[in-house]
Amino acid sequence: MNCPECGGDITHVYDTRKHDDSIVARRRICRDCKKRFSTIELIGKVRVKSDKKITAEISSFYESI
Ligand SMILES: [Zn+2]
Repeated sequence: MNCPECGGDITHVYDTRKHDDSIVARRRICRDCKKRFSTIELIGKVRVKSDKKITAEISSFYESI
């Protein structure tokens, strides 16, 4: 996972939030520039859903964190 700010490849996860069984968000911080950013992991079964549905789930998830 590369930092979106400096491109550094060493980041640390300092918070993990599970939305439901298929979406996990992680808060990360870059070791080099200390930029904080979020990543979202979609787990397996989500792939059978439409892109529109996934987008809606991610949007509602972001609103909740
Ligand atoms: Zn960085």
